[in-house]
Amino acid sequence: MANADLMDKLVSLSKRRGYIFQSSEIYGGTGSVWDYGPLGVELKRNIKDRWWSSMVHQRDDIEGLDAAILMHPRVWEASGHVEGFTDPLVECSNCHRRFRADMPEVAGGQCPTCGSKDVFGEPRMFNLMFKTFMGPVEDSSATVYIRPETAQGIYVNFLNVQGAARQRVPFGIAQIGKAFRNEITPGNFIFRTREFEQAEMQFFVAPGSDEEWFEKWMEVRMQWHKDLGINPDKLRFHEHGPDELAHYAKKAYDIEYEFPFGWKEFEGIHNRTDFDLARHQEYSGKRLEYIDPTTNERFLPYVIETSMGVDRAALVVLADAYREEEIEGETRVVLALNPEIAPTKVAVFPLVKKDGMPEIAEKIQQDLRAAAIPAFYDLSGAIGRRYRRQDEVGTPWCVTVDGQSVEDATVTIRDRDSLEQIRVAADKVVGWIRERL
Ligand code: ATP
Repeated sequence: MANADLMDKLVSLSKRRGYIFQSSEIYGGTGSVWDYGPLGVELKRNIKDRWWSSMVHQRDDIEGLDAAILMHPRVWEASGHVEGFTDPLVECSNCHRRFRADMPEVAGGQCPTCGSKDVFGEPRMFNLMFKTFMGPVEDSSATVYIRPETAQGIYVNFLNVQGAARQRVPFGIAQIGKAFRNEITPGNFIFRTREFEQAEMQFFVAPGSDEEWFEKWMEVRMQWHKDLGINPDKLRFHEHGPDELAHYAKKAYDIEYEFPFGWKEFEGIHNRTDFDLARHQEYSGKRLEYIDPTTNERFLPYVIETSMGVDRAALVVLADAYREEEIEGETRVVLALNPEIAPTKVAVFPLVKKDGMPEIAEKIQQDLRAAAIPAFYDLSGAIGRRYRRQDEVGTPWCVTVDGQSVEDATVTIRDRDSLEQIRVAADKVVGWIRERL
């Protein structure tokens, strides 16, 4: 399958089956913002829950936080975003579209939209932060920014969290939340959007131990994606060269995935040194040093950041899971999602709408609901069609109630990937599914 086709197929499947819709579609849509439908919201939530569980619940050295999107405007001066969070922008003198000057076609001098050559002047720097006003007066003193990253909410709360949770360095703070960037050239579906979600963790360490912790976090984060079931051949690290390093970073590695449109970053691991805490200390006038309780030594910790784009991770998951298979002369589309993050875990079907089959199936559906296992009940249409609909949305198991079920109270469970069917007692279905999640 050609790569361009795969993106088109993902966009169309996402819309058709309720994973992802274009925002404000009835108004013609906005190219840079997307809405998650009934299945998409479950997938994204499952990815976030898995991240939160591994970062916060399964460790005793990381605390959670949910900081506000709007912050004091000085935060963004201290962080360097007011001055430096810019991309070079050029305008085509023919069609007046604007582009990032570092896009390959643009750097080659050709307009990607109208095709005209030598139409770009000198680039100007464009700040990617959205601005708005706080309160009823729209003047410059009321200007606030809509956060372009969640990290700053963590830095300004560093001592609050450390004191309240009685943590000692090294420890981390994790947060999942929306971020907004006025990207010049958004695109590739949910890959680059103007509103997106980040799952970030800032790990505070003693200076000198930062390089060791950097290595540790690189390994932990790469393993996390592999454990999720992402094809390891499509995952790699990319180290930032001196010209790519952000203003705050001493060292940075991207975790990249081979998307249908090429190898691209979807998570960054950064050694931010004490840049952010030092700047907040300077701009706020408040001491942000950590005092080691055993040595009484005061210091500003270094920060190792892991920053995953949740939407990009969702795109990785979808692109990696999509398969088209030939089965008995027919093509079946399958999303081979890890059951842990699949939106629906099981579908329940009576083979036909009579002979006591719907009643048995409804009882199983109720049991699954009571056990909080997301399940889908479907009693109409040919069974093959019902299976294919579930394959296409990635449901790992289908339970079918047939004629034999009425006689011996067993049902079949069909595996999405192997297509094998086994018989299980109807009252054991919930336990069987639970064991595999
Ligand atoms: P890029 O170079 O692609 O613009 P970045 O290096 O600016 O990304 P970071 O600032 O390191 O990205 O942000 C961390 C993560 O947030 C990225 O790895 C990505 O997954 C996500 N992210 C950043 N910008 C966007 C965006 N516009 N849309 C969706 N996700 C984004």
